[in-house]
Amino acid sequence: MIFLLLGVSFDGTAQKRKMTNPVIAHRGAWKNTKVPQNSIASLQEAIKIGCVGSEFDVRITADGHPVVVHDPVHDGVSIDNSSYAEVAKLKLSNGEPLPTLESYLEAGSGKNSTTLVLEIKVSQLGKERTLLLTRKCVETVKKMKMTKKVDYISFDYDACKLVRQLDRKANVAYLNGDIAPSELKKEGINGIDYHLGVFRKNESWIKEAQDNKMPVNVWTVNKEEDMKWFLGKKFDFITTDEPELLFSLLKAEREK
Ligand code: MG
Repeated sequence: MIFLLLGVSFDGTAQKRKMTNPVIAHRGAWKNTKVPQNSIASLQEAIKIGCVGSEFDVRITADGHPVVVHDPVHDGVSIDNSSYAEVAKLKLSNGEPLPTLESYLEAGSGKNSTTLVLEIKVSQLGKERTLLLTRKCVETVKKMKMTKKVDYISFDYDACKLVRQLDRKANVAYLNGDIAPSELKKEGINGIDYHLGVFRKNESWIKEAQDNKMPVNVWTVNKEEDMKWFLGKKFDFITTDEPELLFSLLKAEREK
């Protein structure tokens, strides 16, 4: 019995969601709407068109504040090495300040069906900073009572494992594409989110993940032919800079 209990790993503990579509906007819906990536405006656009998820990137300032930004250096300012006071002066091209994690989550809260897919970025200052960021992210999500609204992804395997330790029910997926789904499952990582080239090379991992009841996500799929291929393979999620195109393909399929 004890063996059985231990053997359960994390099966069934992760959040189950009703999935209305597989469309995840990569850094928000920015490309066709002409708003900056990772801006609150791009999140609002993703919500408006009904994406099942909107992905965004989080880094940590030198004094421990999580902020939403992709690159380690923004307008010549290193996020890792600058205080929040310095980072707060930075603006996006639409005039928004770089969002704090809190302001971003706040913007995504409320009545909408868009999951916030939080990428914990790898710190250039080493593992400890990445893990500190991981703790801050989970802490902030819990404090804002948004655990059911947020999924986590990271290229850092230890960050994924730490999310699992800190929140038994969180959906967490690994990005780096170098570990087989069944291995991840043993560590309690309940989803895979790999580059499209990884799935083309290791097609058997798709079925392996699906057999393990792991949600399967792929990035970053921007071409129509690739979208069709992953739709054909019944991916749970397709992460794209072109959510509008993916929606139009889904619509065309339904009308067939
Ligand atoms: Mg990202």
